[in-house]
Amino acid sequence: MSESRIERLEERFVRYCKVDTQSDPNSSSVPSTACQLDLSRMMVDELKALGIEDAQLTDYGVVFGTLKGNVEDRKIPTIAFVAHVDTAPSFHAEGVVPIVHKSWDGTAMVLPDDPAVVIDPEENPHLRGKEGEDIVTASGTTLLGADDKAGIAIIMGLIDHMKAHPEIPRGDVRICFTPDEEIGKGVSDKLMADIGADFAYTLDGENPGDLVAETFSADKADINIKGVSIHTCCAKDRLVNALYLASKIVEMLPKHRLSPESTEGREGFIFMEGIHGNAAEVDMVLNLRDFEMEGLKEKARLLEEICEVVGKTEPRARITCTVREEYRNMRYWLENDMRPVEIAKKAYVDEGFLPNMLAFRGGTDGSLMTEKGIPTPNIFCGMQNPHGPMEWVSLQDMEKALLICARVVGYWADQPA
Ligand SMILES: [Zn+2]
Repeated sequence: MSESRIERLEERFVRYCKVDTQSDPNSSSVPSTACQLDLSRMMVDELKALGIEDAQLTDYGVVFGTLKGNVEDRKIPTIAFVAHVDTAPSFHAEGVVPIVHKSWDGTAMVLPDDPAVVIDPEENPHLRGKEGEDIVTASGTTLLGADDKAGIAIIMGLIDHMKAHPEIPRGDVRICFTPDEEIGKGVSDKLMADIGADFAYTLDGENPGDLVAETFSADKADINIKGVSIHTCCAKDRLVNALYLASKIVEMLPKHRLSPESTEGREGFIFMEGIHGNAAEVDMVLNLRDFEMEGLKEKARLLEEICEVVGKTEPRARITCTVREEYRNMRYWLENDMRPVEIAKKAYVDEGFLPNMLAFRGGTDGSLMTEKGIPTPNIFCGMQNPHGPMEWVSLQDMEKALLICARVVGYWADQPA
């Protein structure tokens, strides 16, 4: 049984990785790239072949389906499992050639298409102890896409498993594959209206044992600097160069503290993400991150102060700083009903893991879903080194995640709706 479960995980995962599904932050279409739909359509067909009759692809690019429950004498919560079809825009994702290192022998893996890319257990502590497991990598020139096709393959395997084990009581289980998670556009109001679940889990985490019930709270700040533009022939005492003012702001940003490169754990930061412009006008984009709202507001205040101070040095310029909300720490809502976290923890323990409650230094699709009313912690899918050529995943870790999900489904059957 176990053998064929791994084989099915491998067959599906390798096939999904080969489909280019890279999202594009600069696109305004929904989903951001048409190629994502290649995989989404494939998933609808495969769900239908597994007997998920209501499998559908929505006009906003989300795949839904329902594994029907088998408990009829009482009302129990409907839970959803969520994974994203897209891969990160930050690295090559076309022509992925997955390589399965069967019963990995513990030596460094040299990837054939770029022998400079070596996945060495010396530098990848999570690889240690995995000798004998089946490790999947890309071939050296692309990412692999285990983020998050491992999640998709696990959810498909979960359907097999639940069908093979009708003795496990279950409510309706909703399946949800989203596009554009990597560009922060995975969760729309339409998705929230259609998902039809009381609680959900994303399968989008790295280390086996990690359980995410806490994420950053995130805001974005847009700084706009308008100088005074004039031909350099007659610029004396008249030109106000927006680039110089921008560089003053950059100079005043904290770097040895409150930056991503100087913080860890529960510390927040300000990250300068981008700058573009010319002497007349400059736009800067900054990410503000903290686990607590007070810390997030402090960072916004600091930015506003910097802009004010720099603005005072040149009254002819106009500097504005606008802060907009991105997402919030899911803990603020999960605290009201910890059942999704407690049930996941129990499933981890019963599969032999000590749950590592990770305060995730980022956001997940679950951050927004939780905020919008469906509590959604994140379970690991086993992906490692995502968004680059060193990405890898162990099929055995994926199998453990699948078994954890199966337990989660079963434990929810004891809960009142
Ligand atoms: Zn992901």
